[in-house]
Amino acid sequence: MHVVICGGGVIGASIAYFLSLRGVEVTVVERSGVACAASGKSGGFLALDWCDASPLQLLARRSFALHAELAETLEADWGYRRLDTLGVLASDSRDFSSSRALRTPPWLGPETAVHGRLGTEASTAQVHPGDFTKAMMQAAGARGARLRLGAIESVRLGDDGKRATGVIVDGAVLEADAVVIAMGPWSVLACQWLPLPAVYGLKGHSFVFHYQPPSTPHALFLEYEDQRGEVDSPEVFPRTDGTTYVCGARGHDPLPIDPDHITIESGPSARLMRQIERFAPDLAASEIVATQACYRPVTEDGLPLIGPVPGVSGAYIATGHSVWGILNAPATGEAMAELLVDGEAKLDLSAFDPARLRVLPAEDVGPAPAL
Ligand SMILES: Cc1cc2nc3c(=O)[nH]c(=O)nc-3n(C[C@H](O)[C@H](O)[C@H](O)COP(=O)(O)OP(=O)(O)OC[C@H]3O[C@@H](n4cnc5c(N)ncnc54)[C@H](O)[C@@H]3O)c2cc1C
Repeated sequence: MHVVICGGGVIGASIAYFLSLRGVEVTVVERSGVACAASGKSGGFLALDWCDASPLQLLARRSFALHAELAETLEADWGYRRLDTLGVLASDSRDFSSSRALRTPPWLGPETAVHGRLGTEASTAQVHPGDFTKAMMQAAGARGARLRLGAIESVRLGDDGKRATGVIVDGAVLEADAVVIAMGPWSVLACQWLPLPAVYGLKGHSFVFHYQPPSTPHALFLEYEDQRGEVDSPEVFPRTDGTTYVCGARGHDPLPIDPDHITIESGPSARLMRQIERFAPDLAASEIVATQACYRPVTEDGLPLIGPVPGVSGAYIATGHSVWGILNAPATGEAMAELLVDGEAKLDLSAFDPARLRVLPAEDVGPAPAL
């Protein structure tokens, strides 16, 4: 069986890895570069139980365990570590010095206060998401998976239109027994080729600083109130490579067809930087390694699409993981490999069945993009 995976983000790379473990012939087709989009620019925060009491619970718990297992068993280092996670209040104008519930890390500014422990080393962890994605692709490659750079232009169907027989990459046919759409927010392009529900891209901005906190590293989730009373939620993740990642400000530009054309919007990124200057002045003053933006893939009901494309045999989709794509990639990869090889996944995927949502009519995707 030859499986073509469209998209070399964390989801595509994880599916490739778990298929390669089963001895399946795999080609990942990636338009720009492995982890070039959200999978390389996200926080990489992992939580065992933050999806509990939601349909994501089992996927998240299995993924959290797999992250630990992969860090143990694979050779590469992608900065996996367990760490405590704190909730922090911050404000442009309020003095929190009297409302500090726990000791506030000394590198945070005076207008901050830790209000609670959101996770411990038993329940929260982190990875460098780009390094993790590349390591999964590399491990798949070591077992024979191929990476092909090129843009998927469409999915090829058999004469009856009910069977996927391959894809068109940069004008050339690439034959396959099964095709998996894993193009993150760009999976919406596949609505022109297959009966699939919509996928949207929500944009976020982030900075990476050359900065290592002078005390025990914690993942921080802030509630930042500005002078007008508006509240933002920046997230801060010190990493093992001596950098610290901060994300938060939402962007508004529509998703460009080419991932390399994502722009940094000056308003949101300046707003995020102003907040960092207030809540962590030393961090803001350190060298900036990256100023970046990316889009997380979301669906109409906020749950991922993981499973077969209704009515087209050999066609599958795995996307829409929203804020938990790095966390949930391993169990998604494992489940997709089981689905493709065994015909059924051990994990119950019914909540993620693509057939649960309305199909987006091809004409609503807009004219065929100039790939
Ligand atoms: C600011 C921010 C912070 C986040 N923080 C976290 C976090 O802390 N923890 C967590 O679990 N999740 C986090 N996420 C979510 C996570 O990053 C995403 O859910 C995940 O990266 C999505 O992975 P993906 O593989 O589906 O998509 P992507 O990473 O977008 O990959 C899709 C790939 O498809 C390729 N592609 C596009 N068009 C084509 C084409 N025509 N042909 C071939 N290839 C194509 C792209 O180049 C890209 O490489 C965050 C997201 C954002 C935006």
